Amino acid sequence: MHQIKKEHAIYQMSRKNKPVLTVPSGTTVAFEVFDAFQNQIISEKQEINALNWDTVNPATGPLFIEGAEVGDVLKVHIKRMEIDKQGVMATIPGAGLLGDLVTTPQVKILPIVDGFALFHNDIKIPINPMIGVIGVAPKTDSIPCGTPNCHGGNMDNKKIVAGTTLYFPVFTKGALLAMGDLHAAMGDGEIMVTGVEIGGKVTVAVEVLKGQSINHPILETDTHFYTIASHEHLLEAVKIATLEMQGFVQKKLGLSFNEAGMLLSAIGDAEIAQVVDPLLTARFGLSKEILKELF
Ligand code: CA
Repeated sequence: MHQIKKEHAIYQMSRKNKPVLTVPSGTTVAFEVFDAFQNQIISEKQEINALNWDTVNPATGPLFIEGAEVGDVLKVHIKRMEIDKQGVMATIPGAGLLGDLVTTPQVKILPIVDGFALFHNDIKIPINPMIGVIGVAPKTDSIPCGTPNCHGGNMDNKKIVAGTTLYFPVFTKGALLAMGDLHAAMGDGEIMVTGVEIGGKVTVAVEVLKGQSINHPILETDTHFYTIASHEHLLEAVKIATLEMQGFVQKKLGLSFNEAGMLLSAIGDAEIAQVVDPLLTARFGLSKEILKELF
């Protein structure tokens, strides 16, 4: 199977990035990834300020998918996720929802044992391995891997797990898929800026969808579709995600704007992915019992 080593790390998603590997649509590829600190933290005694901040938020890639053209959709099915043996968390003064109240930086190492991240003595966190950063080259020249936007990027969405499928707009030939920033677990919001940050390996199947077009990433789970949007203001992110879903509901179910809105108001879920990155990310979920397919 094709595999991209984690040493092929990028720090910006950009159409200028040179592809590491080129594959046809329909190929399965494994991406080995660093954690968000590029595996720099190995001890709780380390000073967070002493890290090399130029190499945080690496993403592995990019992968060039043959046949992907501007205006297509790239389908990425997450087949498998493997995570390393320990994760790391941090609190950093000024960073995160409560960052203005953090006076002392702190680093915490969490061993992963039998499906739990060991937090503190008898406090064990059930793991939910998820991908923080995944996306394609953006429409603009380059966007740091720590920032989410229409191309995906640092969406920090805890629903992006093995078994789910992402759909991205293609903004450049080959799409240029890259990913990193795994979390063994993360709560909605990621309020202190870190989930249980961890390295590992993600195996995905990539497929180019022709004759389809989307503006923002979409996530499909066994039970739901989620439109995903990022914006400087959280309420605006929620509104964009909602409008995207409204558009699908109107088109696929043949409803008027008002009726689609009432349906989403009755059974759709406006949810927070994260509130701590340079743009904030919301998702809008709708059950597949209502909307059976998007395309
Ligand atoms: Ca992240």
